[in-house]
Amino acid sequence: MKRWLVNMMSKFERFMRYRYGQDQLNNFLAGCYLVLLLIRTFSKIQIVVVVSYTLMSLLLITIVYRFFSKKKIQRSRENHHYLNFKYKIRAFFRRYTNRFSNRSTYKYFKCPNCQQQLRVPKKRGKVSVTCPKCHHVFDQKT
Ligand SMILES: [Zn+2]
Repeated sequence: MKRWLVNMMSKFERFMRYRYGQDQLNNFLAGCYLVLLLIRTFSKIQIVVVVSYTLMSLLLITIVYRFFSKKKIQRSRENHHYLNFKYKIRAFFRRYTNRFSNRSTYKYFKCPNCQQQLRVPKKRGKVSVTCPKCHHVFDQKT
């Protein structure tokens, strides 16, 4: 490899040593940036162009700031919050898609005492249900 290139790379490594770098939150923000770029490119409405341009500038500033930030703990905490939020959204949709695909085999209902979501196999007649959370016993038609 060329000497100047090796030199440049080691300089960059030294520059980045105490800096945060890329993470999942920055990837997500970069994705938002690209979506806004598409909107801005194909929109003919003036206000949409202005708003997307403003948001893109803010996103770019945030991405660059987070990438070169020396406050690694704070950036890592932000990323952790983002991942938590993403996980909750996914869990929410997974719960409802599971429920939808199992709708012919299970009956879903809530515990009348604690509102815990429960399910029992369908077509078993009237069954006695014990809530696993609050141990309330009640009858349920299936
Ligand atoms: Zn309960």
